[in-house]
Amino acid sequence: MGLMDFYLANLTIESPTIIPRRRSATGYVGVRETIPGSTLGGAILSSLRRHNRITAQEAEEFAKDHALISSPAFPREKNLLYPAHPFIWRCKEPGCGRYVTKLDEVLKVLEEGCELGPTAIALTCQEGHRALEKMHPRPLPAATLSQGCKSPGEKKEGLESVKVVSVPVSRHRASSIVGALYSYETLPTGLEYWAILTVRQGILDERVDVLRLGRGISKGFGKVKLSLKKLDVNKLQKALPAKAGHTVLYSLSPVVLRSVEHTIDLGAYTGLSGGVRVKAVYGSSTTIGGWDIRRNIEWRVVNAASPGSLVLAEVEGDGTSVAHGLILLGLMGEKIDFGGFTLVGLNMMMPIDIILGDVLAS
Ligand SMILES: [Zn+2]
Repeated sequence: MGLMDFYLANLTIESPTIIPRRRSATGYVGVRETIPGSTLGGAILSSLRRHNRITAQEAEEFAKDHALISSPAFPREKNLLYPAHPFIWRCKEPGCGRYVTKLDEVLKVLEEGCELGPTAIALTCQEGHRALEKMHPRPLPAATLSQGCKSPGEKKEGLESVKVVSVPVSRHRASSIVGALYSYETLPTGLEYWAILTVRQGILDERVDVLRLGRGISKGFGKVKLSLKKLDVNKLQKALPAKAGHTVLYSLSPVVLRSVEHTIDLGAYTGLSGGVRVKAVYGSSTTIGGWDIRRNIEWRVVNAASPGSLVLAEVEGDGTSVAHGLILLGLMGEKIDFGGFTLVGLNMMMPIDIILGDVLAS
């Protein structure tokens, strides 16, 4: 795969940005909550091309060699928000709004290699209200995800979106569709997002760039400021707890497994060895999809698990190599071959302590 640079990307929406809602198995995926990694990666490649920082041939090679991988982009407020794991709920009782999590109990059971029982499901909030609503995979701060929140009145997450109606985005408007109403959810100016970017060394740097993201970019929609901060792999690795046996990983991307006993080969990363044997995935089922520009076909993967899923794994191999491999798995994910059709940016999962310790932001 060659040498790669890793960045924490910060995106600031500078003009209303239209990303059409996409159907999934569980209904519509709200665009406010995640921008797909393939959308962001594509926008960055286009920007490099537009500014002549790469040639058309290089752009083609990058796409073919997957030289640029992006995680989904999640919102950020003061802190990074992470897609919620399945063991957190919010109380819908008027005036309450407490978050309840069973994560501590769940981790204790899983790390001992035991099966989760009904105690992993919360039934009431601390006040005894039986009005819990599941949060998975809505993005929340690490502190809420690990401890919940014990007092009411915490401000609602400020992710308001606006509806745009009748946005003329088609370049081929036939007379029969003049006047048709298009409804898109629009990300308003000022919202901030973050993502992890993995790029072949020397392609990007920490300079600020303006991307064009989503639909209607020729009309001025979708201006997004991108700034990058290099991630230090050694620093992330030092934050890993030394544990053998069962490990719980937190996925930032969709999780796709090709078989029941799926083993992720850490040898796929240059110079490393070891494996991550997946024992169980806790998350809700989703369908992912996109448009393959090179082949001009739409692709869909059913039975993926959403970002925020927890993955119970057994890690095999030599300590240092495996620790490095686990960080690279979180930053680059796994490349999965669907018989001549390869997808990247899947299974970007990291030890849970890195995510809930907010180590990426530090
Ligand atoms: Zn309550």
